[in-house]
Amino acid sequence: MRPVQEVQVSTTEREPLRLMAVHAHPDDEASKGAAATAKYAADGVEVLVVTCTGGERGDILNPSFTLPEGHEFETLEGRLAVRRLEMARSAEALGVRHAWLGFVDSGLPEGDPLPPLPEGCFGLVPLEEASEPLVKLVREFRPHVITTYDPSGGYPHPDHIKCHDVSAEAFAAAGDPERYPGTGEPWEPLKLYYNHGFSMDRLRAAHEAMTAAGLESPFGDWIESRDAREIPERQVTTLIPAAEYFAHRDEALRAHASQIDPQGFFFAVPRDLEADVWPWEEYELAESRVPLPERAPGEHEDDLFTGVREALAHQGDGRAPAGVPA
Ligand SMILES: [Zn+2]
Repeated sequence: MRPVQEVQVSTTEREPLRLMAVHAHPDDEASKGAAATAKYAADGVEVLVVTCTGGERGDILNPSFTLPEGHEFETLEGRLAVRRLEMARSAEALGVRHAWLGFVDSGLPEGDPLPPLPEGCFGLVPLEEASEPLVKLVREFRPHVITTYDPSGGYPHPDHIKCHDVSAEAFAAAGDPERYPGTGEPWEPLKLYYNHGFSMDRLRAAHEAMTAAGLESPFGDWIESRDAREIPERQVTTLIPAAEYFAHRDEALRAHASQIDPQGFFFAVPRDLEADVWPWEEYELAESRVPLPERAPGEHEDDLFTGVREALAHQGDGRAPAGVPA
């Protein structure tokens, strides 16, 4: 029998948990799952935010935005430089690491009929070519959990749909030694999640609380139009309590000064009221390679690493100490 102390040493030597949050544009990490990533980072989880495109086709959406000195927003290169600055500040606010995949923003096509996507943009890159840098990053960073968007993209921006596609491909293929040769040692992530920032439950809770407090709610029309269009609701399986990190999320949002109006929609709900009625960030579990505890109907997971912590404790992260069954 090994002395207890040796087993404890093995436990403290275990690799930390790792979370990879894949997003389409700089600023998406601040509006989807931001507080949860800040919370996990603060808890000692290694968090890597990955941004697929440079966001260089985003317009200035904040009327009070002033360009940082020496910058311009006329060319794609100019916009890319501004958005890189903003992204660095956002990552700092969330306390996370950050990586770019380096693809070019597709822009949101508008009009009827829709115009074709611009040549060379992320939305037009064939799936394997678009997935390769993410597979490489998964094999380097070795995340246990990956978050991305649902197959519809969450909203019909071609980069958001493509973000889902490359994430699902990387989740499926990164562990397969036959796939994507030359991009590093295979690594199999254990869980895949979709971000859900604006479920109807959340909109209704915020709307009702604001109305009850005598405040003007910006959500009434939105709720009505979503009801009218009968958009099927995706399932939220997981609620991460993250109210303590809403201030980090807000700082990350403000970091994207060209995109986010500090007087706008994202800041409409007073934070104490929000923390009271909706202290969570929402996710949908898409796939798990680890066994999960049964959930009663209506019951939610409260941790992206549910089942992962248990599996790693059991296996010693592939390096089981002697005497502990793998
Ligand atoms: Zn986006």
